[in-house]
Amino acid sequence: MSDLSRFPDLPEKMDALIASARRCFDLRLQTNAGGNLSMRLATGDAIVIKPSGVGFAECTRDNLQVVLLDGTVLSSSHKPSKDLGFHLDLYRIRPDINAIVHCHSPWATGYASAGIEIPCLTVQTIEKIGRMPLIPLSAAGGPQTEEDISPVFRDPSICAAVLANHGTIGVGKTIMAAQYLAEIIEETAQIAFLRDTLLTTHSKATVSLPRFGTAADATSSN
Ligand SMILES: [Zn+2]
Repeated sequence: MSDLSRFPDLPEKMDALIASARRCFDLRLQTNAGGNLSMRLATGDAIVIKPSGVGFAECTRDNLQVVLLDGTVLSSSHKPSKDLGFHLDLYRIRPDINAIVHCHSPWATGYASAGIEIPCLTVQTIEKIGRMPLIPLSAAGGPQTEEDISPVFRDPSICAAVLANHGTIGVGKTIMAAQYLAEIIEETAQIAFLRDTLLTTHSKATVSLPRFGTAADATSSN
């Protein structure tokens, strides 16, 4: 067992990660043992992350792993997550990232499986995210790795992305910032689906939005 005493913020970070994982599970952003989330520790050279085979609702101080940025797993009886590589690489290339929440949330993953980029429709999404690139499967056709994901996040303005046939990634300075992005991505996918369904139902090819006030105001002023 490695000495973890050089990470004085570890218990606090573990508790924050456990709370975020529970919130994702309760919101149905991530059920089963998929997805992953992690946080950078204050020393800057290590992260705490969920291991393979542990569900978001089952994260505890005893099963979370501490991993150095060079990939060394410091203490764990669990297998490292398949997603460990891209989490580590995002922390290496983006010093501004302190937390990552990666979920297989159903609405967003529906868009990702249809090969459709989720449009940033609402004022909130435009302000908080701006662009949400859709990252294709790996060259071999399998799940995305750091080779596919890191080039997108080298752009410091990117804080969220969607993985084709897979899920979502939100990154932030804090775990709550990354958590909120996971929620906004999913919410935006639902709104986009509703918008497109309504346009189809009403045989509208384009959106006609009021320029001010409510739709009724705009109609009455015409
Ligand atoms: Zn995944």
